[in-house]
Amino acid sequence: MQPLPLRVADADDWSWQLRAAVTTVGELERHLALTDEERAGALRAEAAGLPISITPYYLSLCDPREPSCPIRRQCVPHLDESARVPGDLDDPLGEVAHEVAPELVQRYPDRALLLVTDRCAVYCRFCTRSRMVGDGGGARSDEHLSRAFEHLASHPEIRDVIVSGGDPLAMATARLARLVERLRAIPHVETIRLATRVPVTLPQRITDELLAALRPFHPLWVMTHFNHPKELSPLAVRALTRLADAGFPVMNQTVLLRGINDEPATLEALFRGLVRARTRPYYLLQADPVVGTSHLRTPVSRGIELMGALQGRLSGIALPKLIVDTPGGMGKVPVGPDYVVARRPGETDLRTHRGVVVTYRDPPA
Ligand code: SF4
Repeated sequence: MQPLPLRVADADDWSWQLRAAVTTVGELERHLALTDEERAGALRAEAAGLPISITPYYLSLCDPREPSCPIRRQCVPHLDESARVPGDLDDPLGEVAHEVAPELVQRYPDRALLLVTDRCAVYCRFCTRSRMVGDGGGARSDEHLSRAFEHLASHPEIRDVIVSGGDPLAMATARLARLVERLRAIPHVETIRLATRVPVTLPQRITDELLAALRPFHPLWVMTHFNHPKELSPLAVRALTRLADAGFPVMNQTVLLRGINDEPATLEALFRGLVRARTRPYYLLQADPVVGTSHLRTPVSRGIELMGALQGRLSGIALPKLIVDTPGGMGKVPVGPDYVVARRPGETDLRTHRGVVVTYRDPPA
């Protein structure tokens, strides 16, 4: 095995990180002591389905000898990905059914999702969009996206566009800026969100050049995706700080993953670390039932237990909402412990985080 980290000079160059991403079983074997299940899973991924891509930076966060490493389990394929269990779906959020133009998905009246590339720095083994990421198409051309832009321009009810993929920040800066400029030119699009995992998997991407290119198009929100406190490396924290300094509100969506972050202490450390890095823990997402990810999913009841354990331990700014994005694209549902224990006319009994039941009396009618 060859030790990481790699050459310091190159390691800070984001495009080198992309070019040097590990994509084959042979390369993985050079850096990690693979188990038989990982090797078989990687051979399977190499042949078909969700491919392998791991930046040298993200690989350097993996424990080379410990298969249960929470970073390694997110990016190294496993033979369990070949399982298909009842309820598994290729497209759990019904995005294909809700496509209103090529690469444009609309599941809510005021929001739309624009899929601008299939490329990511790292392919996450739990990816909701594993049906299309890494399929080789790369960044979508202006021409290919023209019908999506026509739809956005002609639907004034759409006020919020989430730019996703793949990862839009894996695109060239000029191309991304051109796309954001086009969106900003649509008068009724008030909010533009960039959904990206590069602060986690390729923090070198948050360059002065990128920030300067995007800054003219504020307000731009960044929706990122940290799942474990180990991902909050000094480089990642620097990326988050730079985004905040450049005026981007940064929100984080954590996916709840079995054996990776499904413990109260892990989530507490993650959410506290994100707040320290000026990033708002926004959602804790129940993992979508994507085919081949059942080994990484938890029962809904585990998320509810975890929220119960964290309520009162973390302040409101550090405590995300637990969300189930319902299969079939029917929309997000917030779930959590039942704090209302009884209702009577004019009175509600509430259980506090101390376990005490307190009655709240309504004002006289
Ligand atoms: S970065 Fe996002 S889109 Fe890309 S593989 Fe990971 S979860 Fe999927």
